[in-house]
Amino acid sequence: MARSDDCVFCEIIAGERDATVLHESSEYLCFLDKYPVTEGHALVVPKEHVRYLEATDGSAFFAFLQEAHAEVKQRSDPDATNIGCNNGQAAGQTVPHCHWHIIPRYDGDMADPTGGVRGVIPEKRTYGE
Ligand code: 5GP
Ligand code: ZN
Repeated sequence: MARSDDCVFCEIIAGERDATVLHESSEYLCFLDKYPVTEGHALVVPKEHVRYLEATDGSAFFAFLQEAHAEVKQRSDPDATNIGCNNGQAAGQTVPHCHWHIIPRYDGDMADPTGGVRGVIPEKRTYGE
């Protein structure tokens, strides 16, 4: 399986860097984010080092993402979740190994959560009036 020598997620996958694993298959891994946005924030990665979502097997990755999502919900009992992928540098990707974020959300964790992932551009988070 392809790996990059300069990738923290490849190090986690290889067992060379500590992470709390929530769910695993032969092809994918879900582990807790080291700098969580909320309690239980998890990342879902293919074990193969690929940078972009386009290089992944969409249906297999999504099936694993749903399993990991169920695990996150069971572990953290959130009121809702945000799920997102920063696919490329201009979209905010900092670790060059494709990953989905699963961010548990809790009632009252911010004053007004309207718009959710639209907040990637904060002034566009809400719309309408
Ligand atoms: P990106 O900005 O690329 O979408 O997200 C990268 C994520 O990886 C961030 O949420 C960041 O907190 C997380 N992260 C960075 N370094 C590490 C690490 O060494 N271990 C773990 N578990 N997460 C990391
Ligand atoms: Zn990698």
